[in-house]
Amino acid sequence: MKIGVLTSGGDAPGMNAAIRAVVRCGIDAGMDVYGIKRGYEGLLDGEIEQMSLSSVGDILHRGGTILKTARSERFSTEEGVKRSKVILGTFGIDALIVIGGDGSMRGALELSKLGVNVMCLPGTIDNDLAYTDYTIGFDTAVNTVLDAISKVRDTSSAHERNTIIEVMGRHCGDIALYAGVGGGAEAVLIPEVEADVNRVCRKILQGAGRGKLNSIIINAEGSGVSSEELAKEIAEVTGRETRIVVLSYLQRGGVPTLDDRLLASQSGAKAIELIQNGIKNRAIGTVNGKIQAFEIEGALAEKPEFDHELYELIDVLSK
Ligand code: ATP
Repeated sequence: MKIGVLTSGGDAPGMNAAIRAVVRCGIDAGMDVYGIKRGYEGLLDGEIEQMSLSSVGDILHRGGTILKTARSERFSTEEGVKRSKVILGTFGIDALIVIGGDGSMRGALELSKLGVNVMCLPGTIDNDLAYTDYTIGFDTAVNTVLDAISKVRDTSSAHERNTIIEVMGRHCGDIALYAGVGGGAEAVLIPEVEADVNRVCRKILQGAGRGKLNSIIINAEGSGVSSEELAKEIAEVTGRETRIVVLSYLQRGGVPTLDDRLLASQSGAKAIELIQNGIKNRAIGTVNGKIQAFEIEGALAEKPEFDHELYELIDVLSK
């Protein structure tokens, strides 16, 4: 049996651990494993090479993806999906493992409708796939934000200033939310809750009133308020210098954490197990910490449940 593996969409720490698991478990199960470069774009170009046990050596601890990744407009057309099926057939590939976010999974769903057997691994720092507890890369990204918060706190205390840390999250505020709890932020602004800048300012003033030396505000990209507007308003109301730190792509890189390596390794192994057992078209993830597999369409249709308690906890813990 021949299987293919690709990474697609934004890169996420732990994608390499997932590739490694797919290749090594696949070979262990007697399969030929082919690596497809640059996601669906490389698939369309036939950038496909057989992988060996050693081609995934020394990558477990590396961020990024050795297969490279891409966003592919060509693929997302009906014609593109059809051509991808033809190319997979030309290489004799019986099943495809896609490591990527929701867009990549939607692409995989289209391929499955044409009869290609596709397994999806949730590779995205955003944690925006509701069917799984966490996505591969999320834990590392949050830890990167925590590290930044600790460093910013030192200097903000010294200068008695407010700092806005802008993090990724256009539609899903999980990076901001989790980093807010773990990093002791005074407030977080996220797409799921309408921004209330007055509430943020009141919070900073209350803290300053009882001697807080600095305030950390986490602003997710998709909160609806730009960090510049926020900084201007906070500085005006609190009378304290307010700086902005935009973490941007720093959040994508770095050594994957244990959680991300475990999720990647176990879900890669699960994909191979399912293919071996003749099961088709599944999205793999965890529910209450246990690896599980779901029909792709159902997995994509699941609505995210916003954790209001966690959101409110940030306010209480930073009083
Ligand atoms: P991230 O969460 O990191 O952004 P992602 O997988 O959601 O990752 P996208 O850019 O949304 O990233 O999707 C990756 C690729 O998947 C797209 O460039 C496109 O080729 C393909 N794709 C996305 N949506 C569809 C769709 N509805 N039909 C077919 N292909 C799609």
